[in-house]
Amino acid sequence: MADTSCCKLHAIIFPLPYQGHINPFVNLAIKLASKGLTITFVHAEHIHHTLTKSNMDKETDLFSAVRKSGLDIRYSTITDGFPVEFDRPLHLDEYWRSLLNDFPARVDEFIGNMIGSADSPPVSVLIADSFFAWSPGIARKYDLLNVSFFTQPALVFTVGCHWDLVTQNGHFPVKGDNEEELKYVPGVDSISTKDLMSYFKEEEIETVVHKAVFAAFHEMNRADFVLHYTVQELESKTLDTLSKNQPTYAIGPVYSFTNRPETTRVAKSLRSELDCTKWLDSKPPGSVLYVSFGSVVQTSKQVIQEIAYGLLLSEVNFLWVAREDILKSGDSDIFPDGFQDEIKGKGLIVPWCDQIMVLSNRGVGGFVTHCGWNSTLESMWCGVPMICNPVAYDQPTNRKLVVEDLKIGINLSDGVSIHREEVAEKISGFMSGSASQGFRDQAEKVKKILHDALDNGGSSERNLDKFIYDLRAKIINL
Ligand code: UDP
Repeated sequence: MADTSCCKLHAIIFPLPYQGHINPFVNLAIKLASKGLTITFVHAEHIHHTLTKSNMDKETDLFSAVRKSGLDIRYSTITDGFPVEFDRPLHLDEYWRSLLNDFPARVDEFIGNMIGSADSPPVSVLIADSFFAWSPGIARKYDLLNVSFFTQPALVFTVGCHWDLVTQNGHFPVKGDNEEELKYVPGVDSISTKDLMSYFKEEEIETVVHKAVFAAFHEMNRADFVLHYTVQELESKTLDTLSKNQPTYAIGPVYSFTNRPETTRVAKSLRSELDCTKWLDSKPPGSVLYVSFGSVVQTSKQVIQEIAYGLLLSEVNFLWVAREDILKSGDSDIFPDGFQDEIKGKGLIVPWCDQIMVLSNRGVGGFVTHCGWNSTLESMWCGVPMICNPVAYDQPTNRKLVVEDLKIGINLSDGVSIHREEVAEKISGFMSGSASQGFRDQAEKVKKILHDALDNGGSSERNLDKFIYDLRAKIINL
């Protein structure tokens, strides 16, 4: 075996500028630094601005507290070319067109300057979000090892990376409502067309977001290493198949060190969090249904209304995170008239919370979720079964893992329409019906798998150590 203890690794890290990507990237940075790597973490300027505002952080360096505790994480920002106050979600196409076409040159210049700077230790590794298609090209230009960090399940990775195969088989774009089973995607026994990611199923497939996602999936298999934000035991067949192609490491989830005080001192949340502990503590154990649709997706007033009245009819306690921008219409009046009065004592509505803190509270017994992958992993980590209401992107595919494969959740609706009576019936059965204990037991089993993976000697811990060993070995042998 090569002696790989000698070289000090310095990695530059670029997260995608969205909440669901920032969280795993910050945790990964701290984890790698705690294993001896030097890290330079790079946020987009507008993300830096939002983080400092939401967390009332006066520091210009978000990682200064971590550095004081002895970890070598340096911090920098990069402009995406738009003013900080530019409304990116409102101008999604323009924003993504620029991320696809103009941003790579900015990254190139940033990395070139850093490598030429006397203040920076030599850089050897580029860790970028897998959805940045520019990373293999820029890594090659500067002789850096390219690490692609995929923050969604391995199932999504293999389906996305076999887009061409799906197209050859006539399943992209998915036609009409006819459901068909795909039995040819490497590492997947079978997946229905309805469970494919939303960008496989849209009528318009020439959008800039499609182009960006296509380009990224094409580049992912050029990476020197892929880090998967999942757990080996949850997706072993898929991961084993992927590892035949490329060095592949399942390292998720990365929370083992959230109890390290310095981790909690890094601002990660793009919105101000409301502390719901007192309210949750006042409710009987397992009696509260937590409702949240993540940080990005939007829905209609009609869907909110049916879920709202379904919750009331079910008579369960609930805590609902209703972002002010949850409605597609832009309307800030989210709930039906009088709803807030009707729920007094039973329900609490907040604009944002510390989700892991909520899910770990004993009061919470279920999670109505959009199946974002972070939310899904966090729910598994806390042993909370789920009621799934996927909206877009990878969420329908994540739902399959939760409901069909792991059996730790149910569907909120048939995926076509939502009716309050059905919602109420599903919720009541899920929280206290005959099948309820079965879901809780199964969720406990999955929770144990996740916690075991992160224990010393667990699969995620071992995989991360192996990844660092392989990085060093590759650098020595270059
Ligand atoms: N989140 C949070 N507070 C909330 C709602 C969500 O901190 O009130 C966090 C949640 O813990 C998760 C992230 O936001 O880590 C959302 O990521 P996910 O992948 O679930 O969904 P996305 O926002 O990307 O659709």
